[in-house]
Amino acid sequence: MRHEPRIVAGVEVFPLCDAVGPMGGDVWRPLPELFPGGVHEDAEWILHFHCYLLRDAAGRTVLVDTGVGPEDSPAASWAPAPGALGAELTRVGVTPEEVDAVVITHLHSDHASGAVVGGVPAFPNARHLLQRAEVDTASEAVLDHVVRPLGERVRVVDGPAEVLPGIRVLHAPGHTPGHQVVQVGELTLTGDVVLHPVQLADPKVPYLYDADPEQAAATRVELLERVRAENGLIATAHFAEPFTPVR
Ligand SMILES: [Zn+2]
Ligand SMILES: [Zn+2]
Repeated sequence: MRHEPRIVAGVEVFPLCDAVGPMGGDVWRPLPELFPGGVHEDAEWILHFHCYLLRDAAGRTVLVDTGVGPEDSPAASWAPAPGALGAELTRVGVTPEEVDAVVITHLHSDHASGAVVGGVPAFPNARHLLQRAEVDTASEAVLDHVVRPLGERVRVVDGPAEVLPGIRVLHAPGHTPGHQVVQVGELTLTGDVVLHPVQLADPKVPYLYDADPEQAAATRVELLERVRAENGLIATAHFAEPFTPVR
């Protein structure tokens, strides 16, 4: 699905819709099991899988997340379709070689699997930012599939770090130990800190697949309070609409 870009603090933000559909396979659960305590109006969760391409005034580019990857990706057992990230990048006029930096919010298979395709880095000229806690707690399978093939392109950071002037990552743990979000002006790209709109209505509603649900809720509450105080906006990975004002 095609989504419209926005300009935030002089940076163009292009939502890239990698896939749309329900979860399948072993991870499928009814919504009330995925988000216990939430008020559920829909029978089924139709997820979008969004990556984002940021382009600053100097033309430098940052890709936030890399989607579900190709047909043989680790996400293929449950994602609704192979990732369309490559076609989406083409649509917004960016080649893989032109991507200057990749931020992987966390190493789940629907966020990291497009970084390495067929054992080869998909964005050969980009540095790839990961939090130390994410790398330190990654499984051998994930290290083999994503982190090791990236080699010296990986830049491990510990806490807040600048990606480009005006574009920062912040450690936002709980969904995974080393989950990070991206901050541009009043926009926060939330990765999986916020999964579903029921967590905007009540940020304490947990998610079944949060590694540490209490930590995840504390991070979500703090992040949404900050964005609300700034009259800001979030860009989510899995909502149907990429941009959501926090009021
Ligand atoms: Zn979408
Ligand atoms: Zn995740």
